[in-house]
Amino acid sequence: MRRISIFGATGSVGEQTVDLILRAGGPAAYETVAVTGGRNVARLAEIAQALRAEIAICGEAACLPELRAALSGSGIAVAAGQAALAEAAARPADWVMSAIVGAAGLVPGLTALEQGATLALANKESLVTAGPLLMAAEQAHGGRVLPVDSEHSAIFQALMGEKIETVERIILTASGGALRDWPLERLAQATVADALAHPNWAMGQRITIDSASMFNKALEVIETREFFGVAPEQIEVIIHPESIIHSMVGFRDGAVMAHLGAPDMRHPIGFALNWPERAALPVARLDLAALAQLTFRAPDPARYPALRLAGEVMRLRGLAGAAFNAAKEIALDRFLAGQIGFAEMAGVVEDVLTLLSAAGGLEKPAFGLEDVLAMDHLARIRAGEAAEARRRKGG
Ligand code: NDP
Repeated sequence: MRRISIFGATGSVGEQTVDLILRAGGPAAYETVAVTGGRNVARLAEIAQALRAEIAICGEAACLPELRAALSGSGIAVAAGQAALAEAAARPADWVMSAIVGAAGLVPGLTALEQGATLALANKESLVTAGPLLMAAEQAHGGRVLPVDSEHSAIFQALMGEKIETVERIILTASGGALRDWPLERLAQATVADALAHPNWAMGQRITIDSASMFNKALEVIETREFFGVAPEQIEVIIHPESIIHSMVGFRDGAVMAHLGAPDMRHPIGFALNWPERAALPVARLDLAALAQLTFRAPDPARYPALRLAGEVMRLRGLAGAAFNAAKEIALDRFLAGQIGFAEMAGVVEDVLTLLSAAGGLEKPAFGLEDVLAMDHLARIRAGEAAEARRRKGG
């Protein structure tokens, strides 16, 4: 029986993973090693019991007494804190879902890869911050990274049986997020609730706001570069409001392979769970006649400065991805806290990249996990300062 672990089991991707595993028979079909959550202890305990996991871990150390109480008498071990997450990732497993949100997902995912596991990677932040480290761990330990982001799963599927050197371009589709049709001059006033009203996808809070700002697409552009090894100029972004085409690959003979499907994360999650097989999945089937048309438009650079910043990160490489992601996470925290406006998030990230690049700390050709974590820490401090400066100016 395959041994699996789910990191971020209580989140949007995590819950959909649990759903697919339960539909496939749960403990009768999979041996669950570890399930993890952040703060939602009650739900984590339910999932651990439903899957009969060996261990449940909450990322927040203070949650341990509550988790222990919730699982007392169940025979399921409990632990808490970031070190416990890494230890759980070191437990042998065949398949590991990496669905913690943010940079906190990096160490568990990398640790699982170092055990030779197949890593189903939803946590795009891992590739953005430490792409070369993940790819090297995959090579060195015989594991496999499978993309879970719908775009990258689509590209992966379009590339099956193809040679990467025949790829001319990769076209990432983007819904444009909740604010895509807002007048540009109103974006500065967008509230958290406005940015959360995603037209097509039901996702976690942070990625939904990142969709509205296109920081999510910026991360995905960098993820594409790291995962598929193509040059930055081969990556294009197109707004496709219907979210039916999940991405496309253009080949040197002019052919373009597109991956279509209903916007339902259980497709890419299920694909990664069953790969290299294709299993039946409980996702809606496309009714093309009902859809009638699919539309596309070029992204407006003035509306989506995050895409330009992604280009800058790919030019700098090294630790620029770690700085970019950390600054983006802090900018998002500050927007959620009402301290900076929606349109200022990109400004904060740009301030941090400019500052750290001028200090010469980003363009590091070879780096290790310690360097990534140190840059993550530094960029968070600088982003906090940049956000505070903007808040003062605004207030
Ligand atoms: P959610 O916010 O819904 O869930 C995040 C998960 O991570 C939860 O289990 C949460 O725990 C846990 N968590 C949060 N912070 C920490 C921490 N510091 N330490 C340990 N665990 C933590 O996120 P999503 O499911 O939306 O996204 C997860 C990842 O997948 C992200 O990287 C995202 O970019 C990516 N992704 C998501 C898609 C989607 O459709 N949602 C699509 C494609 C990619 P708790 O809730 O218990 O606090």
